Amino acid sequence: MKSEQDILCNSMLEDDPNANESVSPEETLSPRWGPTHKGAQELANLYSRGKRIQECISVSICVTLMAVNICLIFYHIHIKNIPTIAMAAVLGIISADFASGLVHWLADTWGSIDLPIIGKNFLRPFREHHIDPTSITRHDFIETNGDNFMVTIPFLSLMLYRLLTDTEAQLQRHFSFLCFIFLFAIFVALTNQIHKWSHTYFGLPSWVVWLQEHHIILPRRHHRYHHVAPHETYYCITTGWLNWPLEVLRFWPTLESVITLVTGCRPRDDDFKWAQKRS
Ligand SMILES: [Zn+2]
Ligand SMILES: [Zn+2]
Repeated sequence: MKSEQDILCNSMLEDDPNANESVSPEETLSPRWGPTHKGAQELANLYSRGKRIQECISVSICVTLMAVNICLIFYHIHIKNIPTIAMAAVLGIISADFASGLVHWLADTWGSIDLPIIGKNFLRPFREHHIDPTSITRHDFIETNGDNFMVTIPFLSLMLYRLLTDTEAQLQRHFSFLCFIFLFAIFVALTNQIHKWSHTYFGLPSWVVWLQEHHIILPRRHHRYHHVAPHETYYCITTGWLNWPLEVLRFWPTLESVITLVTGCRPRDDDFKWAQKRS
């Protein structure tokens, strides 16, 4: 577990935007974090028009699928099955938290911006986020959520297919599973919005702060553990419920050791390279 001292020395102080407390004159000229970091500026400039179009299409399709699916769920739901459905929904949320950790860990730890297609389109935001954690708070709804919404489209499409083609008896047999998939997809889709809120220290709606303070979604202080360089732990960013158990199990370091043993690749090489681009 990281100490308050680790957080102060090795992460950007987002709740102190003027960084009055800990910035030396040398850091003012060549900042380790923030919008004036040279690497962060280079990465921000790689956000392309094509990428923007992909995000707009993803958000439109995903929102349509969510709206149709929720109507069909309410049409077919039986009150007596609510307890089982509620359990399936909670499992869906926990699975979304794990998926957020796995994808985040993969993107932070392996691969590089130079990889064709995925480098600039999908790994770039992860690199940018470590050297300028505040940039996410300046992204609009589409840039924040486009990729996560895209990931859920296959799940929501499959769900819609079953809801439209199964008989009533078939539907009732796997209705809880459909609710599991729906909550999984909803929380995967919302993950980066929740993540953005965990970096927003000013002007959040009070209901969001309430959800954070009751640890229903990722709390701000909790997510700071991930932002301590070298960003090697606390990858789950939906609810953050699994971060502590995975830390105790040494889940991520064990996976990394196995991958290094098999491939010879060192974890976070590319992330470290971008962190060094300070001038
Ligand atoms: Zn990260
Ligand atoms: Zn973050």
